[in-house]
Amino acid sequence: MKVQEDYATHTLCCCCFERYPRFDVVELSCKREDEDLLHAYCRDCINGLFEACVRDTTLWPPRCCGARISVYAAAYLLDPKLVTQCETKDKELSTSNPTYCSNRSCAEWIPPSNIKAAVGKCYNCSAETCTTCKNPKHKGLCPEDEDVQQLMKYAGEQKYKRCFRCRTLVELEIGCNHMRCSCGAEFCYLCGEPWKTCSCDSFIEGRLFRGHATQTPGSPIPMPEKDELPEPDPMEDVISGLQLRLASFVEASTNIVSANVATCSHNWVRCAFPLGEKEGCNICYEAVSAINKCSQCGVSLCTVCLNNRL
Ligand SMILES: [Zn+2]
Ligand SMILES: [Zn+2]
Ligand SMILES: [Zn+2]
Ligand SMILES: [Zn+2]
Ligand SMILES: [Zn+2]
Ligand SMILES: [Zn+2]
Ligand SMILES: [Zn+2]
Ligand SMILES: [Zn+2]
Repeated sequence: MKVQEDYATHTLCCCCFERYPRFDVVELSCKREDEDLLHAYCRDCINGLFEACVRDTTLWPPRCCGARISVYAAAYLLDPKLVTQCETKDKELSTSNPTYCSNRSCAEWIPPSNIKAAVGKCYNCSAETCTTCKNPKHKGLCPEDEDVQQLMKYAGEQKYKRCFRCRTLVELEIGCNHMRCSCGAEFCYLCGEPWKTCSCDSFIEGRLFRGHATQTPGSPIPMPEKDELPEPDPMEDVISGLQLRLASFVEASTNIVSANVATCSHNWVRCAFPLGEKEGCNICYEAVSAINKCSQCGVSLCTVCLNNRL
């Protein structure tokens, strides 16, 4: 009788297994077959779960037993800052071609409202990022821009060449190999070197002499010029490589568990270890002080993977 009364006003948090008054938990409508109580999360655990989901996109959106937990259903227990972060995360993941801060130590998402003329300004560190090539903001047109690439292709076939000094496209004057840019630089159309410093001159003079001046000279100029972009960060490859590896690990281990799901109905037994002892979860490899072990197939899952990831 006492236990029944207790359940009328109190319930268990499915994450920390402590007892809480019902007004201080988020109660959901899910549970596993072998459980009696519907899943509920205490204030600390629901905040912990949503924080983990914001940090780790593989956990997004926040779920329990496969069903999404609405941020608004949980908002009365969530830190208001976290509610805003969740709304931002939602927008980030629904934005096509998102731009992240090019400052590698920041890498915050730049919302479209902070993007003007293809340059995004980070609200966190104020760094500016080109939204087309995702590199730090650079001078001039972006070589990754489709329109610019079209122009470059055209320029490669036609009578334009970039000035070696200021990078402006300069038009070739008919019948002459001598390019003069508005910045004052003079250069050779064929090789792009400063005027009179290359060996193309005499060749062209010979052509002029033979009356072939209007012939389209040379082969198309290779464009766009990638060397205008800042050096790529060598750390970037390492980091994206690690992320890929982690993703395939999680995928592979999820498959192992799914293979067991096919043959096992699972009977979860929660094992709490003595202080200081930990065991690794079969999905995320996180060492935890209490694990859910299936007594039939032997698979071990942390509570986050069991409730919120699977
Ligand atoms: Zn809890
Ligand atoms: Zn659940
Ligand atoms: Zn930033
Ligand atoms: Zn760019
Ligand atoms: Zn110039
Ligand atoms: Zn030349
Ligand atoms: Zn099992
Ligand atoms: Zn886990």
